[in-house]
Amino acid sequence: MPGRIIFGSGSIQKLSEELDGMDIRAAAVLSTPGRKAEAEAVATLIGLRARLIYPHAEMHTPVAVSEAAVAALAKAGVDGVIAIGGGSTIGLGKAIALRTTLPQIAIPTTYSGSEVTPVVGQTINGRKATERSLRVLPRLVIYDPDLSQNLPARISAASGLNAMAHAVEALYAENRSPVIEIMAVEGIAAFFRAIPAIIADKSDRAARADALYGAWLCGQCLAGAGMALHHKLCHTLGGSFGLPHAETHSIVLPHALAYNLPAVPHAQARLATVLGDAPSATLQNIARDAGLPVALRDLGMPQTAIEDAADIALASPYWNPRPLERNAIVRLLTRAWQGAVPAAA
Ligand code: NAD
Repeated sequence: MPGRIIFGSGSIQKLSEELDGMDIRAAAVLSTPGRKAEAEAVATLIGLRARLIYPHAEMHTPVAVSEAAVAALAKAGVDGVIAIGGGSTIGLGKAIALRTTLPQIAIPTTYSGSEVTPVVGQTINGRKATERSLRVLPRLVIYDPDLSQNLPARISAASGLNAMAHAVEALYAENRSPVIEIMAVEGIAAFFRAIPAIIADKSDRAARADALYGAWLCGQCLAGAGMALHHKLCHTLGGSFGLPHAETHSIVLPHALAYNLPAVPHAQARLATVLGDAPSATLQNIARDAGLPVALRDLGMPQTAIEDAADIALASPYWNPRPLERNAIVRLLTRAWQGAVPAAA
């Protein structure tokens, strides 16, 4: 992907110089309401180059929120956008880029990988739809491990598993390539090392850097390969039932992978080199060991939503290596709802 990447502890200090290089003189700094302090810190860092702090990003990028942001930025006369935070804030930056010509900078503080993808998922009328366009690819990404030093271990693990899901599905994507497969295995391995290390010590700087390296790799997998059943189910559960994005990914991934594994022996062989002979169970154990929920019912999803979720996911399915069979998808979702052991059918 053509975005410029700056990586390393303290690299946020280069932001002003980068803004000057991009000719941005009146930036908007985006965040979610809960991370406004980080947006304010960025505004302080860049001084007069900051025109507006806009702390109104929401998860799943609702279209109404994006349209309100575009109007507010136009009124303020900004000439560039800086998104600091996780995928929710970066999603708002992308939605703004889709609707304007404003250059966009992403400063990720979680590991979900959105900052290096030309993909934006937007929610309207309870449906989440994704679209690909180089317009939404941030022009600059600053990966500074110091900024995720305080990211709670659980959120670190959940967003790491979200990123691992991009790499897992890239391994069996219809358009996978040898390079993507190498990046996928390397990204999964980075998180397999980093997540337990972060849980053991939240301030482990080497593990934080490793996790951001994994985020970059896994984001590149999402950028370069098509996603399948797992992402479709998660977009359905997030967009239509309001379930939290990263936790939903970490719960569903072992089950979606178990469904697909019989059809993808090449991916099973690659995954075995990092996650062992039972990769689905290993992924579920990573989530459990991180104290994350492993059952959709623990996210508040009612059992009655399982059939609807299957219907919505199957109404406009993504390509998948194993044919999608409704009863098997209902069984998959039921197991994910219960937090059962992942199984193929
Ligand atoms: P998020 O942005 O929703 O943040 C998750 C939580 O982490 C929030 O509570 C936030 O306040 C907290 N947080 C963030 N940074 C923090 C910090 N430094 N310290 C403490 N807490 C911090 O999380 P996410 O999981 O990264 O993003 C989810 C969204 O990203 C979804 O809308 C999803 O669709 C999107 N996404 C898009 C892509 C893509 O390529 N388009 C890829 C992955 C995810």
